Amino acid sequence: MMEHPENDDLYKGLKINKGVADVPTINPYLKSRLQRKEYTPSEFVEGILAGNITILSQAVTLVESSKYEHQQIAQEVIEKCLPYAGNSVRIGITGVPGAGKSTSIDAFGMHLIEKGRKLAVLAIDPSSERSKGSILGDKTRMEELSRAKNAFIRPSPSAGSLGGVARKTRETIVLCEAAGFNSIFVETVGVGQSETAVHSMVDFFLLIQLAGTGDELQGIKRGIMEMADGIIINKADGDNIDKAKLAANQFRNALHLFPPSDSGWIPQVLTYSGYYKLGIKEIWNMVDEYIKFTKDNGYFDLKRNDQSKYWMYESINETLRDTFYHNPAVRSKITETEQQVLNNEISSFVAAKQMMDLFLENLSNK
Ligand code: GDP
Repeated sequence: MMEHPENDDLYKGLKINKGVADVPTINPYLKSRLQRKEYTPSEFVEGILAGNITILSQAVTLVESSKYEHQQIAQEVIEKCLPYAGNSVRIGITGVPGAGKSTSIDAFGMHLIEKGRKLAVLAIDPSSERSKGSILGDKTRMEELSRAKNAFIRPSPSAGSLGGVARKTRETIVLCEAAGFNSIFVETVGVGQSETAVHSMVDFFLLIQLAGTGDELQGIKRGIMEMADGIIINKADGDNIDKAKLAANQFRNALHLFPPSDSGWIPQVLTYSGYYKLGIKEIWNMVDEYIKFTKDNGYFDLKRNDQSKYWMYESINETLRDTFYHNPAVRSKITETEQQVLNNEISSFVAAKQMMDLFLENLSNK
């Protein structure tokens, strides 16, 4: 039988041509255009200062990269951008999943953009590495904002340790500010440690809460409430308005029991609806009032200085840790030493001392 019966004379008009074995998946012309340009640090800085979003995004990618060469460029770019950074209001936003963070950020963000601000939305989600891509800062969760010209949305870097993720976000803030973004949101999920990291890089910390879930104050860590400069009760709409007001009163009462904050600011509790955009203006009046209050009493600068100091030590700690664990002598011995601890042959402390001695010896031999 013929391999291609359709090639029989019978079907003269239907000749099948031989296929091409290897079809290029991308038009070679397009491929050359798709290749990213490799910018020098100065070109990055120039682009960022000119407000070029594509270049800003690429610089953030370098900040997030764990490759040594990328970090080299990133650090130089950050350093050169620093003199142009700082001129913004940085807001931390937290709340448990479902509290309405993305709906609210969409509403708050559009409110600010309508007032002529440029907004960057960043996120800190230490779990993002496990979940393969963050749910925080995802553009699809902020419908209006993702289409707005003056908004820049960036999901959480996925970098393993919380300290690493937080440092990258803090560095991204510098780049965004140098690119002219004068409002910065840092979103995090309200379940624990990441709040402390966010608190250490923002001017105002906003806690989103819900009413009508039984005992209103349950499930919120006291530490998180203590960090909040404003507590806002979302979903104050429809049948829920009275419950939200009641919850607001409970929060106000609870806040009375806390020691006064260093800033001298008394945290406010407001109700709003992110979905129906009710009470948004009032929330932003509160933030503006806080910024004015702390700028007048000097706390604003004091806090930023404290944060710079904190990040200096955090960076040192991270570098020390990295150098230790990447040290070849340490790497070659650590599993064995760990096993000795597990076998009760040596104590944890002796093991740690042995590893440290090995590390220091190896360093001084260099
Ligand atoms: P996130 O997980 O904290 O980011 O929360 P989302 O913004 O995704 O909101 C969780 C759910 O609550 C969604 O179904 C929203 O539509 C709803 N939601 C958010 N804000 C409001 C609000 O102001 N009122 C009402 N009724 N529902 C809201």
